[in-house]
Amino acid sequence: MQIQKLTREIRNKSLRKVKKRSPGELSASWYQEDLLYRGRGPTLFMILPTGGCSWALSESGGCTMCSYITDSHLEDVPAEEIINIFHEIMDKHTIEEPTAVKIFTSGSFLNPDEMPVEARKEILKTLGEIENIVEVVVESRPEYVNRDVIQECCSYIPDKIFEISMGLESSSDHTREFKINKGFSKKDFERAVEIIKDLKVEFKVKSKAYILVKPILTSEKQAIQEAIDSAIYAENAGIDRISFCPATIHKGTLIEELWRKGSYQPPWIWSVVKIINQVREEVQVPAIMDTSGFGSRRGPYNCKKCNSKLKQMIIDSNLDQILVKELECECKNQWQVESSFCDIGRSTTRIRY
Ligand code: SF4
Ligand SMILES: [Zn+2]
Repeated sequence: MQIQKLTREIRNKSLRKVKKRSPGELSASWYQEDLLYRGRGPTLFMILPTGGCSWALSESGGCTMCSYITDSHLEDVPAEEIINIFHEIMDKHTIEEPTAVKIFTSGSFLNPDEMPVEARKEILKTLGEIENIVEVVVESRPEYVNRDVIQECCSYIPDKIFEISMGLESSSDHTREFKINKGFSKKDFERAVEIIKDLKVEFKVKSKAYILVKPILTSEKQAIQEAIDSAIYAENAGIDRISFCPATIHKGTLIEELWRKGSYQPPWIWSVVKIINQVREEVQVPAIMDTSGFGSRRGPYNCKKCNSKLKQMIIDSNLDQILVKELECECKNQWQVESSFCDIGRSTTRIRY
């Protein structure tokens, strides 16, 4: 497939330039207030190093907007090393009130080729023994979601919510295959959601869908509609939460190549506001809008006057699941004109001021 050939070439070029970092250098952890199933609350985020996402390392070249592979060790990280890093992180933090733990591995936590089974077990068992941890959130591609694995994971943390976040990105198989190069279909996603749904009688297991806002080759108008349609689809499929990821330009990706050539621009923040407000009205499950990169050269952007204000308003609306209030700014007219066209070219020629 042409898109895979292109993505592979770009990926190889970027991997050749990457300075290899040790597993210790790649790990990180921080506390932040976030939305838990019970409402606002503290969340411990941690990045655990692995060899990297198998999909990005495969001949497919991985997803067109993602560069997490360059934040990976690129060689297998032994279970003991991951376990040591995990314990070092846990030793740094005292968990005094009901807290969620979000584990990022820049890939699939449930793929044993990325996260060794022994490390997965030790991590979950340890978290299971800490009373104040109420939710454990991991990320995985749907092909690694199988009944036995989820049952095993839940058995280590039986009284806690275990959420598996999956990158659905779009409800359109065409977009997922030809614009994102995701490598799985709606059927694969639905199969994973069904497994999780079935296990709800036994465990507090939940699923979350990530939705990408504005993949490549998509106009502003199409991007808004597709994100809303995808959220409605995800809810109907049985997902428990939705997290929107508005596109930002990661280095060493196909999206970056198109952006450099003037053939792609990340979405307007106005579009993002429209999406989240409409979804809050039409969809019942909690929906979060990620604001990483907002207002930066490589991220969602309106104008210097309203970027930061809207970003903060979206963060607040995430925590309380409320609508983002109306705001006026002179850049809004330009967005309104641009988002009324289906033509992709008009969405990429914007001058940012
Ligand atoms: S988005 Fe997920 S599946 Fe795709 S390349 Fe990145 S880490 Fe891998
Ligand atoms: Zn503005």
